[in-house]
Amino acid sequence: MADFKPDAVAPATQARVLRVAVPTPLRRLFDYRPAGAPPASGWRAGIRVKVPFGRRELVGIVIACADESDLPPAQLKPIVACLDAEPLPADWLWLCEFTARYYQHALGDTLHNALPGPLRQGRPLEARTRERWRLETAEATALEQLGRAPRQRELVTLLAQHRHGLVTSAVSAQGFTRAQLQGLARRGLVSCHEEPLTASAAPSGPLLATPALTLNREQAAALAALHEGLDRYHPCLLHGVTGSGKTEVYLQLIEAVLGQGKQALVLVPEIGLTPQTLARFRKRFRVPVVALHSGLTDLERLDAWEAARSGRAPVVIGTRSAIFTPLARPGAIIVDEEHDGSFKQQDGLRYHARDLAIARAHREGIPILLGSATPSLESLAQARSGRYRHLRLTTRASRHAPARLELTDLRGRVRQGGLIPPTIEAIRQALAAEGQVLVFINRRGFSPSLACHQCGWIAECSHCDSRLTLHRQPPRLVCHHCEHQQPQPDACPSCGSADLRPLGAGTERTEETLATLFPKTPIYRIDRDSTRRKEALDQVLGEIRRGEPSLLVGTQMLAKGHHLPHVTLVVVVNADAGLYASDFRALEQSAQLLIQVAGRAGRAERPGRVLVQTLHPDDPNLRLLADSGYDALAYQLLEERRLAALPPYRHLALARFEAVKEADAQATAEAAGEALREWLAARGSPVHALGPVPAPMERRQNRYHVQLMLSAERRSALHEAAAWLVARLEQETSRRVRWSLDVDPMSLS
Ligand code: ADP
Ligand code: ZN
Ligand code: ZN
Repeated sequence: MADFKPDAVAPATQARVLRVAVPTPLRRLFDYRPAGAPPASGWRAGIRVKVPFGRRELVGIVIACADESDLPPAQLKPIVACLDAEPLPADWLWLCEFTARYYQHALGDTLHNALPGPLRQGRPLEARTRERWRLETAEATALEQLGRAPRQRELVTLLAQHRHGLVTSAVSAQGFTRAQLQGLARRGLVSCHEEPLTASAAPSGPLLATPALTLNREQAAALAALHEGLDRYHPCLLHGVTGSGKTEVYLQLIEAVLGQGKQALVLVPEIGLTPQTLARFRKRFRVPVVALHSGLTDLERLDAWEAARSGRAPVVIGTRSAIFTPLARPGAIIVDEEHDGSFKQQDGLRYHARDLAIARAHREGIPILLGSATPSLESLAQARSGRYRHLRLTTRASRHAPARLELTDLRGRVRQGGLIPPTIEAIRQALAAEGQVLVFINRRGFSPSLACHQCGWIAECSHCDSRLTLHRQPPRLVCHHCEHQQPQPDACPSCGSADLRPLGAGTERTEETLATLFPKTPIYRIDRDSTRRKEALDQVLGEIRRGEPSLLVGTQMLAKGHHLPHVTLVVVVNADAGLYASDFRALEQSAQLLIQVAGRAGRAERPGRVLVQTLHPDDPNLRLLADSGYDALAYQLLEERRLAALPPYRHLALARFEAVKEADAQATAEAAGEALREWLAARGSPVHALGPVPAPMERRQNRYHVQLMLSAERRSALHEAAAWLVARLEQETSRRVRWSLDVDPMSLS
């Protein structure tokens, strides 16, 4: 990221030609002639325009103004309308242009992704407002003037009960009409004010609603370091064990930023933007804290975006896409759980919000704080080389040190719902001591496969190279890659035997076993199936937090992010999935997940215990993680990455090709690979091109997947080659083949 130099965007007020980014996958701008009255600001980059495009009209954004076009004047179409008086913020436009260039994505589509829906559709930028009605005289005076108008008298009485007035919707909820309000307003008894929908009342007075905690020594040192870099680009890694009080450091950094009259942007993982997280920030500050997440309606999103852009929202918290929120007075960016995979968008515009956050902070000259108990190897490498300041928190704020991982040997042991007898005994003890037990199993469904005990047949997806998962609630076989479903067969389709058995355990099976073993204990299962509705999850978490002894069975949905203060025992049903997976990040990611899961134990008053079941208790990586902790393993993995010439020591870009016919995907990828190698050789480029090779799961949803990998030590070389490849693919790819380019891929599948 660091060696990227942005072009300067030259503003121009007099324009004969507008270069417009239009929402298409084409990586180019389109020229139009200005028409109608120019915007108040003059023609500049960042003005939205409606333009004719083929047979449609689209909303595009002016990127540059020019005197001449390559098109003959007769072919230069006029715009349909200018939509803005003022351009969209220049920093925002810069970020979008950077994103498009860095990820080799069409600028028009990037801008489209970065705008809230209503702005994409051409809605004006002004904040939406609502009306607030307030009684302007004493109640008695008003009633006196009204005489015998019963409804109006009731309305006056209602308004008199609300010193700060009522918004129209609240008044109509009481059965009054807007006409009645206007009637009172005409008599001068009631006033009407417009106010923005979001973040309306920024109160004056003290910043904090509740006082900050007194920091411990390490927290104080971290905060002092952050205070030194408030006015410049200052990248820091806050590397602190779970429960070490990172959030408290964020809160006090934000306090300093707000104290300077600036805004803070906080990015959290998808799973982390819970009502509890928001409540924690809202409880601390007396200023509006605005949330941006996937649960908002288009208009709510627009309101939040606008509150951030106008500066009315001093604190903005959001998931991945919130990185594209403009700020009027940017003061700091915080990325919590910076290692989390949800910061990377895996389709369409494939960007990494943490990496964009770094680029953005650099451009805007503001501090950026990446926080994690288990930092990504990328960030660790930056911290170790001194490019990021490394701030460490090694002790928990509560009395208890993080629990150690106890490895327990699964080999040759009877398993019930995935659990071996010593584990079941430990659960019994924890429940007897009035604790809660979290059983972590990263597979939803009843069992990850269904097999014939006679002939060895295994149920497989007919559309993918994968096995079908057996579900019991309701009974069916499901492919977790393409969502294909089919009924569970009564007999083996291969040999006719009725002896079909589930192999291995998923959440449903473990839940079922625990229910038989502990019939009197409440069990909560939390996975994607049990919590399709968001309220369902919030409700269950609420019950769990009441603290009764209970069993929690869940996937990472349960294990990440949530504060579960009464859990005293964590059981990892199987730690092995990531140990021998082929992907180069698999081990890093499963270590992060294990530590995160383990961090759920003993958060409050009681110490915790973490049992990790494994078939490989002697695996050196797992041992290192258990005996010496995440950091020791991470530093060793970094060394391995260096030797294997993998990220973060080498940069990758992955071109993926897919087609219904294997030969189509293969042919296109081969031709592209060959042309690329020729181009690289002719230029003496140090970039390596590898492949094409079939993707790890070659057939998915009846399509064949093939991939070509580019790698280089220097980013600039990689980007040059990737740009060339993309330009070629854009021109020469058959319609039968879909392709995409993933810069800094998170996985090679
Ligand atoms: P992390 O974000 O590192 O997991 P948190 O910020 O959630 O940790 O802190 C864990 C718990 O410790 C919280 O309940 C928090 O209120 C408390 N805590 C954090 N810092 C302090 C402090 N300096 N003094 C007392 N309690 C603290
Ligand atoms: Zn069979
Ligand atoms: Zn499938």
